Amino acid sequence: MSRFWSKVVGTLTPYVPGEQPKIANLIKLNTNENPYPPSPRVLEAIQDELGADAARLRLYPDPNADLLKGTIARTYGLTADKVFVGNGSDEVLAHVFMALLKHERRVLFPDITYSFYPVYCGLYDVDYRTVPLADDFTINPADYAQPNGGIIFPNPNAPTGCLLAADAIEQMLKANPDSVVVVDEAYVDFGGKSAISLVDRYDNLLVVHTLSKSRSLAGLRVGFAVGDPALIEALERVKNSFNSYPLDRLAIVGAVAALEDSGHFEQSRQAIIASRDTLTAALTQLGFEVLPSAANFIFARHPQYDAAQLAQALREKNIIVRHFKLPRIDQFLRITVGTDAECTALIAALRNILR
Ligand SMILES: *Cc1c(COP(=O)(O)O)cnc(C)c1O
Repeated sequence: MSRFWSKVVGTLTPYVPGEQPKIANLIKLNTNENPYPPSPRVLEAIQDELGADAARLRLYPDPNADLLKGTIARTYGLTADKVFVGNGSDEVLAHVFMALLKHERRVLFPDITYSFYPVYCGLYDVDYRTVPLADDFTINPADYAQPNGGIIFPNPNAPTGCLLAADAIEQMLKANPDSVVVVDEAYVDFGGKSAISLVDRYDNLLVVHTLSKSRSLAGLRVGFAVGDPALIEALERVKNSFNSYPLDRLAIVGAVAALEDSGHFEQSRQAIIASRDTLTAALTQLGFEVLPSAANFIFARHPQYDAAQLAQALREKNIIVRHFKLPRIDQFLRITVGTDAECTALIAALRNILR
């Protein structure tokens, strides 16, 4: 506290991102980054942008990032007026809470979910209510059949990795014609079917994506949202009252190149899906209970070993995973699917610890 703080600052509970330790030779399985590099075309595009005219960085980027919006529209078979882009999907989500989820009625999201949602509610003074996941940690659409000012959840959910089927999402859209249903598809490329295909039929659907996970570009900070033009206009109005140039020149060309390299994308996501299945089988063999994952991470608990202690024991072997000290999930570890070599090292370390 300081006398210089505005009133709201003292009330905030900021999000705590997974740590980015500065330790060499670390096996880093704690923040769901992609273990594979981005498409080489991304690096070329960024180098071209820098090289074509060395002084180009003196100029502001396109405030509308039309090149990127056009590429996203083409990739998903949409018109560009259904696309919004931002500096990471975290920024897109912040604008979503401000523009589309702040109403008299409370916004609904699962009790176990992306922990940034309640943080945005705190920042923007949005009333919310959490809806408990079922005992098997899945989302039950019927639980959302209650008055609300909007609904938001990741699909697959984080940190559980569990997928909600497309017809369940459609059921929620139909049951809530007067509120926006936001599907945060940060991990959908690792095993789900995107709800983007429903955007043309439901004016209350907004789908949020990131290039951080399946496109290996967490460091570039690019996210986007897809929905009815009226929803996009709301986001643009907030964005243009906040930062006219959220995407820099390098991010725009890099993101375009990543989206255009569908071969690289397919290869890296298939590799991760295959490693996830191998890792799940190996953990199960060690006695872990692993929730069915459609993401690039798995959520697992061991009936005989305390999760916090396991995380600490792994850390001593230079492997970091994520542990949440939260109700219902404090006996789980969230483990990012790494390369096969990293998964093998993790299993060897666990075998050693459990012995
Ligand atoms: C990683 C993640 C994001 C944020 O992605 P950025 O684009 O890197 O900001 C959003 N939602 C969920 C559920 C995530 O796990």
